[in-house]
Amino acid sequence: MSKTHDALSLSYEEWNRILTGELELPRYRADQICQWIYQKKVFDFAEMTNLSKELREKLPASFTLFPPMIIKEQASKDGTRKFLMQLTDGEKIESVLMDHGSHSTACISSQVGCPLGCSFCATGIAGFVRNLTAGEIAGQFLAMEKRLGKDINNAVFMGMGEPFLNTDNVLAAILALSGPKMRNLGARHIAVSTSGIVPGIIDLSNFEVPVRLSVSLHAPNDALRSKLMPVNRKHSLESLMDALRKYQERTGERITFEYVMIDKVNDSADNAYELTSLLQGMGAYVNVIPYNPVTEKYARSGEARIKEFCAILTKYRIEHEIRREKGADIDAACGQLRVKDV
Ligand code: SAH
Ligand code: SF4
Repeated sequence: MSKTHDALSLSYEEWNRILTGELELPRYRADQICQWIYQKKVFDFAEMTNLSKELREKLPASFTLFPPMIIKEQASKDGTRKFLMQLTDGEKIESVLMDHGSHSTACISSQVGCPLGCSFCATGIAGFVRNLTAGEIAGQFLAMEKRLGKDINNAVFMGMGEPFLNTDNVLAAILALSGPKMRNLGARHIAVSTSGIVPGIIDLSNFEVPVRLSVSLHAPNDALRSKLMPVNRKHSLESLMDALRKYQERTGERITFEYVMIDKVNDSADNAYELTSLLQGMGAYVNVIPYNPVTEKYARSGEARIKEFCAILTKYRIEHEIRREKGADIDAACGQLRVKDV
């Protein structure tokens, strides 16, 4: 009796190994099954009509195939959609879809909640339950594509959770989404965002799929960063910047830095000067993000302060843009994900 595999967690190589080994099937069966799942979004073996009836009946004994189930959908005025998804153990997560016609992006979660407790983030404030499996991560993307009825072009790991506290499963999900015989999503269309977990950055620099990397920086010195992001006490700015420089040496990649503008907390001219000297000489791109209020403690920086901050970045030739929020009216913008009402 073979053991049951979680179908959505498998890479193409693993499909092949299991089907040709344990089940003694020809190789092309892996191609067929992956095509049903990743191209046609069919999640029931019984519907895979180019497999023999006998095989269709046999597969459920060896594989479970349960993508997260969409149980609620909210649509924002700007076209952003937020999905509440239920997992097989009853836990719930949120995923977001930004659909602008030919350009669409799925924002996917890597954990149920997040243990890192950044003081400005709704996910962090709500606490942590568990890591997601690779199948639950890749499955969010597939469930949204099925719902949308067309391909989504980009995947960003910017939903709930810290991807590099769940690195193995996140990388396995990336293999499934990017595999040529799987979903075949281009590596340049996948971005991972981290709060600055050094071992995860090193793992990513050695990973075979050259996805993009974003770092949630939010403060240019250790004292302020540790206050906003407790993870900084474990991985200081110096160790973070060292790891990022090594990552760049290995991959030649530019790094995006997220910097959320919180009124009179991290948005002064001094903060901007410090930020420019921290990033000087790096291939850095800064996303300046007006804060989405999720706690009474903090407010969004005013336009004038954001302008002044950016003017300093411009003066020192730090490339940047101000990223306008999407989906704030349905709590789907950055840092607003939290499962609250069910
Ligand atoms: N844990 C990872 C992935 C989550 S990405 C990380 O922190 O990078 C979510 C992004 O939204 C991060 O850049 C996070 O810092 C940012 N964010 C969190 N709370 C926010 C808020 N209230 N307003 C704007 N951005 C926020
Ligand atoms: Fe976790 Fe990222 Fe939110 Fe911090 S910003 S609490 S690391 S999800």
